Amino acid sequence: MAQETVFFDTHAHFLGDDVEQLLERAEAAGVKRIVAVGGSDDLNNGALAAYNTAPHQVLLALGLDRAQTTLGNDEIVMLEESARNYKVSAIGEMGLDYHYDAATRSQQLKLFARMLELAGSMGVPAIIHTREADDDTLAVIREVVARASGERLGVVHCFTGSREFAGKILDLGLYISFSGIVTFRNAEALRAVAAYVPADRILIETDTPFLTPVPLRGKPNEPAFVQHVASCIAKQRKVSIEELAMTTTQNGLMLFGAPLVSDTGE
Ligand SMILES: [Zn+2]
Repeated sequence: MAQETVFFDTHAHFLGDDVEQLLERAEAAGVKRIVAVGGSDDLNNGALAAYNTAPHQVLLALGLDRAQTTLGNDEIVMLEESARNYKVSAIGEMGLDYHYDAATRSQQLKLFARMLELAGSMGVPAIIHTREADDDTLAVIREVVARASGERLGVVHCFTGSREFAGKILDLGLYISFSGIVTFRNAEALRAVAAYVPADRILIETDTPFLTPVPLRGKPNEPAFVQHVASCIAKQRKVSIEELAMTTTQNGLMLFGAPLVSDTGE
């Protein structure tokens, strides 16, 4: 029997009422694992809807992102309680964005640290967004992680940084995930980074419904399209798409702890 190619989309958001169809099309395209990622009320609810639709396929991540800095302590506590109640596979997304939200830097730093601490205290990985905030991202991680265990620390998702930044992220023990941006015409430098990340630390994602990969630009993105991210990176790394799929799926299972075969005998 031919080995089926299995993909792991480590980052997707679900915002519409087409969750069931998206997940079915993903399954048909070999996308057997998807992390449904939160970050705001809407994103957290969408992630929950996807998880409830197909818990065998979808892993749940809840969190508060850089745009949630106006929330009060009660609302943050509520999120922390939900994350614990649902036994999430990851906390996220979280992090810093000085491109869109530069005015709230100090509040972003506090919320990011609190989300990282939540992930550390639950022993689950953190899904980290960073844009134009390389130094502060590294500083917060170093500060928080120095006080927590570094195991399964997390991933910097939708990586768009330099090779130098990638090196520092890897030194901290994080994984690096590439989205459809890697397929864009002007992304030569990023493709070079995708070729450089060690095989045991690379992940792929769609960031559904955003960042639709080439050659499907113009359509809303969906997890079934992760194969286009995979094929672009495979070419850069001079490996087959099957090998790239296997590598990134194994890494995803390692980081998020979701074995493809249940051995509990239940
Ligand atoms: Zn995202």
